[in-house]
Amino acid sequence: MRAYVSVDMEGMPFVVSEDHLAPGRPLFEEARRVATAVVACVAEELHQRGFSEVIVADSHGSMVNLDVERLPEYVEVIRGFPRPVSMVACVEEADAVLFLGYHAKFGTERATFDHTYSGRVYRSVHVNGVEASEFLLNAYVAGHYGKPVILVAGDERLLEEDVAAHAPWAVRVPLKRGLSRLAARSFSLERTRRMLREGVSEAVRRFAAGEARPLRVGAPVELRATFNSTAYADVASLAPGVRRVGPLTVEYSARDIVEAYKLLELWALAAVALR
Ligand SMILES: [Zn+2]
Repeated sequence: MRAYVSVDMEGMPFVVSEDHLAPGRPLFEEARRVATAVVACVAEELHQRGFSEVIVADSHGSMVNLDVERLPEYVEVIRGFPRPVSMVACVEEADAVLFLGYHAKFGTERATFDHTYSGRVYRSVHVNGVEASEFLLNAYVAGHYGKPVILVAGDERLLEEDVAAHAPWAVRVPLKRGLSRLAARSFSLERTRRMLREGVSEAVRRFAAGEARPLRVGAPVELRATFNSTAYADVASLAPGVRRVGPLTVEYSARDIVEAYKLLELWALAAVALR
């Protein structure tokens, strides 16, 4: 069996400062050490529970974050950006999917670095009328390929709101409780590792029992994005078939969630070209 582990940073324990989030910033080394410890612990437990291979998708920012020299032999790492379906590239190759270090969507109170896909670009993303977090977008893509999300570890607000509502079969491991956008409390790394090991064990049990389900969204997919700037909506509207429905908002009828997701990536990249 093969597991797929998508790794973000904002929902990792102790990560609370912009200085944690990009290479070259003073606290980035600490953040990547913590993220790597979390990933290694989960990979080890998956391996002990029967997953002979673990695909790890390094999925924050430039998508080159983890200390790959500290990952075990059976781990394969996906790195770099841009790549098709971004945080879940190659998810179709796996049997079960786990999300680590995930954070709440834009506009969530007391949740560290609440944002949706690109904090600079998107104010909200709706899929068939449902406001999506990155968790939901990525779980829908996994579900499109028939793959269930079996565990999500990250910000408590994301787990309590989106994960509990949309994927109640997924084990939820809180890695932090937000006190504000830029403050959180977390357990020790040692206790966090224990919670992750117990969580993986339970997730694999539910998966083996057939309790974990792929999260499928209907097709076609009605995608609606609201941007942080009218300029971003101007640019997004240049693509054929995209409808401008408000100063900041565009809509698109996509064939399926994968097409919708790729368009979100493209719009975010196009927005970055603007000053
Ligand atoms: Zn991130």
